[in-house]
Amino acid sequence: MSVKQLHTLSVEDKIFKNLDGSDDWHIKGYEKRGGYKGLDKILKTAPKDIIEQLKASALRGRGGAGFPTGMKWSFMPPVEEKPNYLVVNADESEPGTCKDRDILLYDPHTLVEGIIIGCHSLGAKTCYVYVRGEYIDEADHLQKAIDEAYEAGFLGKNILKTKVDVDIHVHTGAGAYICGEETALLESLEGKKGQPRMKPPFPAGAGLYGCPTTINNVETVAQVPPILKKGVKWWTQFGRPNNHGTKIFSISGAVNKPCNVEAPMSIPLKTLIEEHAGGVIGGWDNLLAVIPGGSSTPMLSAIQADTILMDFDALREVGTGLGTAAVIVMNKETDILAVMTRISRFYKHESCGQCTPCREGVGWVWRMMERLSHGDGEIEELDQLFKVTKKVEGHTICAFADGAMWPVQGVLKHFRPLFEAEINKAKKKSKQNNTAKSA
Ligand code: SF4
Repeated sequence: MSVKQLHTLSVEDKIFKNLDGSDDWHIKGYEKRGGYKGLDKILKTAPKDIIEQLKASALRGRGGAGFPTGMKWSFMPPVEEKPNYLVVNADESEPGTCKDRDILLYDPHTLVEGIIIGCHSLGAKTCYVYVRGEYIDEADHLQKAIDEAYEAGFLGKNILKTKVDVDIHVHTGAGAYICGEETALLESLEGKKGQPRMKPPFPAGAGLYGCPTTINNVETVAQVPPILKKGVKWWTQFGRPNNHGTKIFSISGAVNKPCNVEAPMSIPLKTLIEEHAGGVIGGWDNLLAVIPGGSSTPMLSAIQADTILMDFDALREVGTGLGTAAVIVMNKETDILAVMTRISRFYKHESCGQCTPCREGVGWVWRMMERLSHGDGEIEELDQLFKVTKKVEGHTICAFADGAMWPVQGVLKHFRPLFEAEINKAKKKSKQNNTAKSA
């Protein structure tokens, strides 16, 4: 199939038509923009047919992992003695990421409609939305949208006379980053300490309260209704095969117009930054590096950023990832060693402490970053630092530790000479001081 290289979306093709908050976010505004239209028809469609359409669309999870949504939904067993649940992950905590925040604030009914269809497809009557604790206004808008949907007959029993029942409960977290990991989220939702579970069993077998559960990100769930309404052909016109659709990119850092923007998948990174975020401060030649998918994804050099496409496969091929599509731009005025050390400190603070390599290793790596970024150390310690990141990676219960190591590996790969320069500068200074003292 030929790939249309689209760089912007028409209003009709946007899923989040009110992402900038310029229109009414209440139910009237959403219905005016086409929301809830055709919902009854979808609720009369057999769940297996909906899941087949999602599989054909190749929709991949927008929360970071990029797992195929249709396949994930097909893992849910038929309802027997225990209920099935849908849980929406709105615990958006990855530094640089703020897309779900704007969906909840300005277009919350896109999520509500997605949940109704999701519950029908998964055989669930109940959905829990786990919202990041700091998102007070966002949780408030979502709750109001849910109330409006109940009042309009889109939630509750026998929705639109289709015999589908759906209830939604909003649950706010307490601000721990790790609760964005799906099994830690479930623990927290059950009232326990938010720590990831060992897998297997996977949530589709034993999730919330030991029942079959599917956990999806806000953006993923909200994208389901338009795919079903407009069809797979419409969806797959955007992006390269296996990376189809539209995506919200959160662009921040050294750009002239930081923003959240919905654009076609596989858009060139340079186009994304120049056409949607007003360009790099100081011009494209002033670019130093880009973190492409939230702070845990390894950075791209300016040379890579020149030609890379923003999709799952293109970024994986160069050793990084699309993650949450939170693009953090750094220009030549950025103290990149300070930035990466700060990111390292963030992960040290957020480790849940269950696994020794993570609990001890992430803190050790941060302390090394703190020291070496100030030139306090030996050049050989840079190799030691890299080796330790490789020993932590892949040896823990959840992917948190990997995500804490990748940024450090990225800065060592691309900017090792900066560390070396700091170390040599400090050594020279110390030598001068010693000479001055002995003179
Ligand atoms: Fe907790 Fe870190 Fe282990 Fe994940 S990797 S379970 S965050 S200690």
